[in-house]
Amino acid sequence: MKEISPIASTLIQIDNTFMKQIPIDEIYLFKCTCCGDCCTGNMDININVYDLYKIARFLKLKNSRELFDNGLIRLVQIQNRCWTPQIVFRTSPFKFCPWLINDLGDDDVLRGFCSLHPEHKPLICKMAPAGRVVDFDNNQISYMMTAPTENCPGMDSTFENRLSVLKTELKKELDFEYRFYQILDKLEDKDISQSLMQLEYYCFDVNLEFETILCSLEKKSEIL
Ligand code: SF4
Ligand code: SF4
Repeated sequence: MKEISPIASTLIQIDNTFMKQIPIDEIYLFKCTCCGDCCTGNMDININVYDLYKIARFLKLKNSRELFDNGLIRLVQIQNRCWTPQIVFRTSPFKFCPWLINDLGDDDVLRGFCSLHPEHKPLICKMAPAGRVVDFDNNQISYMMTAPTENCPGMDSTFENRLSVLKTELKKELDFEYRFYQILDKLEDKDISQSLMQLEYYCFDVNLEFETILCSLEKKSEIL
């Protein structure tokens, strides 16, 4: 039995403490107020390989390697001890995601917007507060609800969302992420160094179709 088996879309980590997750119902109540709290502070936003591709294309980069070179993304060893990409928050004048834009509304209330929204936004941010946990050992996929932050005002909303609609709308990205998790699962016991993982799995030409890139990563994981 592997030590940590499930891989989750939305394990948002604050100060190394995983937020509490509860099983999600088909209808769940939530509406983001754009308070910006989950895009600031000690949030760890772990993203997948398709998110890397989307963000690099948004920034009109040639190769996803530039995201690492420019200090926007780093690799962290978390779920299943595999190296996965994480957004590097800026630290001055406070901690915030480099893609957060603060803007004063007509009501003089400061709101936080995501410059990657909607097309290039990471899946974890698109899905929140819903999240998927993939457990390859037990061949199980479950969807959970995790408050984006402890005091997220969106969790007090009476706005109804449907999990089935979310899954349908994000099907392509969820499928890409599942295949990425399969790659990580295969690499789990290979003890690959951070630098090798970055070079071989997270640096690619973003002018290629993503399907081509993912297929090549899948083949690589078969022979390693
Ligand atoms: S903390 Fe909640 S309400 Fe605030 S921006 Fe994040 S999801 Fe939206
Ligand atoms: S990518 Fe967008 S939604 Fe996600 S943390 Fe950054 S600003 Fe917030």
